[in-house]
Amino acid sequence: MRNVFRADLRDMQFVLWEQLLTEQRILCSQVFQDFDRPVIDDILGRARGFACKELGTRYQSSDREGCQLLPDGRVRLPSGYDAAWAAYRDMGWGRIGLPADAGGLGLPYVVTMPVQEMFCGANPGFTTLSGFCPPLFYLLRRFGSPALQALFSDNLAGNRWTACLCMTEPSAGTDVGSITSRATPRDDGTYSIRGTKIFISAGSHELAENIVYVVLARADGSPPGTLGLSCFLVPRYRIGAAGGIAGDNHVRCVRLEEKMGLHGCPTAQLAFGEDGDCIGYLLGERANLGLQQLRLMMNQARIATGIYALGLASSAYLNAAEYAAERIQGCDYRQIFNPRAPRLPIVAHADVRRMLLEMKCKVEGCRALIYRLAFHATQCQIMESGQPHDPSEKQRHEGLVNLLTPIAKAYTSDQAWRIAELAIQVHGGYGYTRDYPVEQYARDVKILSIWEGTNYIQAVDLIRDKLGMGSNPRLLRLYVAEIEAFLADPGTPRDEFHAKLNDAVSCLARTVDDIGGLVRAKKMEVVLFYATRFLGMMATVTIAWLLLEAAVVARRAVAAIAADHPDAAFYRGKILSAQFFFGQFLPTVFADGTLIADGEDSPLSADLAIFLERTTG
Ligand SMILES: Cc1cc2nc3c(=O)[nH]c(=O)nc-3n(C[C@H](O)[C@H](O)[C@H](O)COP(=O)(O)OP(=O)(O)OC[C@H]3O[C@@H](n4cnc5c(N)ncnc54)[C@H](O)[C@@H]3O)c2cc1C
Repeated sequence: MRNVFRADLRDMQFVLWEQLLTEQRILCSQVFQDFDRPVIDDILGRARGFACKELGTRYQSSDREGCQLLPDGRVRLPSGYDAAWAAYRDMGWGRIGLPADAGGLGLPYVVTMPVQEMFCGANPGFTTLSGFCPPLFYLLRRFGSPALQALFSDNLAGNRWTACLCMTEPSAGTDVGSITSRATPRDDGTYSIRGTKIFISAGSHELAENIVYVVLARADGSPPGTLGLSCFLVPRYRIGAAGGIAGDNHVRCVRLEEKMGLHGCPTAQLAFGEDGDCIGYLLGERANLGLQQLRLMMNQARIATGIYALGLASSAYLNAAEYAAERIQGCDYRQIFNPRAPRLPIVAHADVRRMLLEMKCKVEGCRALIYRLAFHATQCQIMESGQPHDPSEKQRHEGLVNLLTPIAKAYTSDQAWRIAELAIQVHGGYGYTRDYPVEQYARDVKILSIWEGTNYIQAVDLIRDKLGMGSNPRLLRLYVAEIEAFLADPGTPRDEFHAKLNDAVSCLARTVDDIGGLVRAKKMEVVLFYATRFLGMMATVTIAWLLLEAAVVARRAVAAIAADHPDAAFYRGKILSAQFFFGQFLPTVFADGTLIADGEDSPLSADLAIFLERTTG
C-alpha cells in the first residue's frame, strides 16, 4: 500500500504561527493555557504521520475496492478501514477539539484545522465516517435536553457511535421545503419516523456500535415548507434503559449510490420505518425549529467542506510539483533545434511553472482563508468561555465567521476542482491514468461544490443573508475595516500591491452598492444571475489580501536569514504566490465589477426552447 498523500506542514505552521500569530493571540488566553507551540507542533507532526500511514496508504485501494451492500443489508467498507478506524478512535483523533469535560483534548479550533486538512486530504472517504460526530455533539449541547445529551453525547464524543445528516430526499435536494419524511408522536414523547433519504454520506457501515441519524422530517400537523420541518435524532439501533443497544430500530440501507468518486465513503439510500416502527427523538422542546437548529451544524459542515477541498487540492498540487521535478521532457526553448541539447525536467518549462504557481497560490490562499475564519471562531470560543471581553469585539469575530463561511465553502471547492484539473494537466497523459492519484483527486473533489448547499446557494447566502442584498452593509464594513487596518499597518509597505488591493476593495464596495441599486430597481433576477460571479469576486479580493499579508511576513523573515537558510526558498515562494495572484487573478475583480454595474442580462431572455436537442434540420 503506497501513501500518495502529501502535506505542506511548513505552510500550515506558517499560517498558524507567523501569519495569524496564534501563539500570541490565542494560546495566551487562560482557556488554552495547557498548550504551547512545541506541544501543538508535536500534535501536528503526529497527525501528519497518522494521515500518511493509516489514511494515505488506503486512499487508492479504497477507491478501487469501494463499498458494497451485502445481501443481508449490511455494508462492507474497503479493506483496512476497520484497523484505521480502531486506531483513529483509540488515539482520540476524533475528539481533539472537544472540551475536556467531554473527554476531549480541548485544542483551540484553529489548531484543529491543519489536522482536519491532513486527514481529509489523505482519505476523504474515511474522514466522512466521523465527520458529523463533533457537529452533532455541539448541536446537542446547544439544543438537546439533558436526557437527550445523556443518551448520545458521550458515545459520539468517543466515536463509539457515528452520526449522519439526513436531509436530502428524491424530490427534495436544494428545495429542502419539499421534504416529505413524516414524524408521528408516540405516547412516550418520542416519534415514529417514516420516509426515504438519499445520498447520505457514511449512511451505513459496521464500524461503530450505533449510528445516529439527524433526520429532517415533518411532524404530523406541521405546516408545509421549511417552517414545518423538525430535527429528529434517530438511532440505527434502539437504545435501552442503561444506554446500551436494545434491538433493531428499522432503518434500512436499501441502496449504495454508484458515484463518480469518493468511493471510500458509503453514500446510502435509507428507508426509515418501512418494515417496522422507527423511533426518533425530537431535538429541542418543540417542533418546527429544525432548520433553525441545523444552521449551526450546517455552518460547521460548510467549513469542513472547505477543509476537504483544501486537503485534496494541496495534495494534488504537491503530487504535481513532485512529478514536474522528475519527469524529463523537452529542452530549453533556446535549444529547440539542437537534438543533443540536454533534456530537462518539465518544471523548467514556463507553462508548467505557470500551472504550478496557480495551484500553489490558490492552495495557500485558501489555507489562509480557512484558518483565518477558524481564528475568528476561536476568538468567539475564548469569549464564550467566560473570559471578560468587549461585546463589540465578539460581534466582530462572529460577523467575520458568518461572512467568510460561504466564501470558504464555495471558493475553495471550486478552486480545488480547478487545481485537480491542473494537476492532471501537469502529469500529461499519465495524469489521465490510474497510475497516478491526480485523476482520483479530481473525481473526489467534485462533490464539494454540490453538497452542504450547492455553491450557488452559498452565493445567495452571501448576497442575501450576509450583505442584505447590498442594503445592509454591516458585515461588509467589518470586512473592509479589517483590510484597511492591514493596509494602514506601519509594517505593510506602501507599494504597488498596497494600491492594487486598495482599489480592488473600493471596487468590491461599489459593486455591493450596485447590487443594492439593482434590488431597488426590482431587478432581482439579475442579482441572482450575478450571485456566483459576485462570490468569486469577493473571494478573489479576500485571497489577495491574505496572500499579501503572508508576503509581508515572508519579506521580513527572508531579510533576516541567510540566502542558503533552509527556509529561504519557502519565504521566497510565499512572496511569489502573492505576486502571481495579484498579477494574474486580482485584475478579474475589476472586470467583474464592470459587468455587474452594466447588468448584462442575456440569460434572462433564454427560454427552454433554445437549449434542447434538435433532431430535425
Ligand atoms: C456524494 C454525495 C454525498 C451527499 N451527502 C449528503 C448527506 O450526507 N446528507 C444529505 O442530506 N445530503 C447529502 N447529499 C445531497 C446533496 O446535499 C444534494 O445533492 C445537494 O443539496 C443538491 O441537491 P440535488 O442533488 O437534489 O440538486 P438540485 O437541487 O436538483 O440542483 C440541481 C442544480 O440546480 C440548481 N438549483 C436548484 N434549485 C435552484 C434554485 N432555486 N435557484 C437556482 N438554482 C437552483 C442547483 O444549484 C444545482 O446546480 C450528498 C450528495 C452526494 C452526491
